Amino acid sequence: MKNIRNLILTSFALLATAVAFAAKPIPGPKGGKIVTTEAPHVEFFVEKDRTVTVSFYDKDLKPVAPSGQVVSAVAEAKTGKVNLAFAARDGALVSSSPLPEGEGYRIVVQVRESAQARPKNYRLEYHDEVCGECKRAEYACICEEHGEEAGEHKH
Ligand SMILES: [Zn+2]
Repeated sequence: MKNIRNLILTSFALLATAVAFAAKPIPGPKGGKIVTTEAPHVEFFVEKDRTVTVSFYDKDLKPVAPSGQVVSAVAEAKTGKVNLAFAARDGALVSSSPLPEGEGYRIVVQVRESAQARPKNYRLEYHDEVCGECKRAEYACICEEHGEEAGEHKH
C-alpha cells in the first residue's frame, strides 16, 4: 500500500511540475521564441531585415551548432502562404528569404532532426510589436499571462 501511495504522490508532483513548466515560457537567448518545451531547444528569431534565424540549444540554453537538422517554415500571411527555406550560417539556420509583409499571422516551423527523421511542427503567432512588460517582441513575449492576452487582442 505504501508503494502505491508514494507512486500516486509522485505522479501528482510530476503533473504539477509539468503545469508550472508550461505556464512559464523560456526566454530565447537571441530575443526570439523558444518553440520547444524540452531540450534540444529550438529558437525562432526574426531579424531586423525580417529573415528568420533558427538556433538550437541544450537544456541549459547553451548554443548547439546545427548537426544536419532540416528546418522549413510556412508563414500564413494575409496575402497568402509563403514557404521559407533555411540554410546553415554562423552556427544557426537562416531563412533564404524574409517573412512576408505585415504581421498577426501564424507561422508553422517544421524541424527534422535529420533529413530522414519525422518532422515536428511548431506553431506561433507572429506579432512584431514590443511587449511593454518584458520588452521583447510580442511573438517572443515571456510574460506568463501572454497566452490569454494574445487571445484577447484578436477579438
Ligand atoms: Zn511580455
